[in-house]
Amino acid sequence: MRYPALIIDRQKLVENTQAITWLCRDAGIGFCAVTKAVCAHPEIARAFLEGGATSLADSRIENLIRLSAFPVPKLLLRIPMPSEADDVVRFADISLNSEWTTLERLSEAAVRLGRIHGVILMVELGDLREGVPLDQAVDLAGRTLRLPGLKLQGVGTNLNCYGGVIPDEHNLSELVVIARQIEAAYRIRLEIVSGGNSGSVYLAASGRMPAGINHLRLGEVLLLGRETSFRKQYPGLHTDAFTFRAEIIELKWKPSLPIGQVRQNAFGRKPHVHDRGLMLRAIVACGRQDILYDLITPRERGIKLVGASSDHLILDVTHSEHPLAVGDTVDFSLAYGALVAASTSEYVHKVFVN
Ligand SMILES: *Cc1c(COP(=O)(O)O)cnc(C)c1O
Repeated sequence: MRYPALIIDRQKLVENTQAITWLCRDAGIGFCAVTKAVCAHPEIARAFLEGGATSLADSRIENLIRLSAFPVPKLLLRIPMPSEADDVVRFADISLNSEWTTLERLSEAAVRLGRIHGVILMVELGDLREGVPLDQAVDLAGRTLRLPGLKLQGVGTNLNCYGGVIPDEHNLSELVVIARQIEAAYRIRLEIVSGGNSGSVYLAASGRMPAGINHLRLGEVLLLGRETSFRKQYPGLHTDAFTFRAEIIELKWKPSLPIGQVRQNAFGRKPHVHDRGLMLRAIVACGRQDILYDLITPRERGIKLVGASSDHLILDVTHSEHPLAVGDTVDFSLAYGALVAASTSEYVHKVFVN
């Protein structure tokens, strides 16, 4: 194996998707499986589909292009750039939208390319990322209905991501109300009322999802096995489908305090270090180019993170349970941001087991 490596247990991803498929089915909810945290790796998309997902979603059109061989509906999560309208219509069946200018561009592209493009209007419910204000949603829906080449498929919202606002019965009920208002105003049926991401799973799991929410967009809960509002784990979910593994290139006893005049490190910051005396320090061959080092956790309890520069990650292995040597490897768990970074880094070798 070449290091650093992101080791992916495919079978665990299949099982996570199965568990979530059953949970959502019981709650009367459909979902699309979100591949953006793993750069739409086709093996992972395949695991999602094997586990019961019936559609795929990603925030980047490049990633949906990577998935074009899979014969399932594809949804673009990030509201499109007007300049990419042609590709969006070509490679996404549905996109999330909140801007009239962009909807016009999508309509023109759809007509030109002879396609019908699905639209979900995003409604702002307090997290303050994308979405039209509540009082403008009905109007934007009406104008969207008049655009040729587009099909208004529903409304949606996104919470948890920027403001950290969690989805609950109150804010998601507002989304259902908007959907019903749009249906009444224009005498149509909306197929999709999309109530958020992995942070909404707890409502489905506890039977508290407001009636009318029939769709979620799920990434993290499938990949890392936890819902994201309360970090709860549900039966059948694995939190260890991904392992980050790096190799020790130096192992020496050194003081914990730098020696000499301390100004700034490679990232322009002044390091704050506590004096803990002499420690056995291991350098593993990876760094900030590959990983967000404060979002990884050594699997072995006795190993502590000290810090990282671009290509070196320093560990305190004074109290490691096993004696270590240069050439040994160290395993880490990854939080979401670290998984994104490891997936994005070309230097991290992706290795599938199972
Ligand atoms: C990333 C994203 C999701 C999926 O979020 P997870 O927390 O990974 O489930 C859903 N919807 C939108 C709009 C997103 O950007």
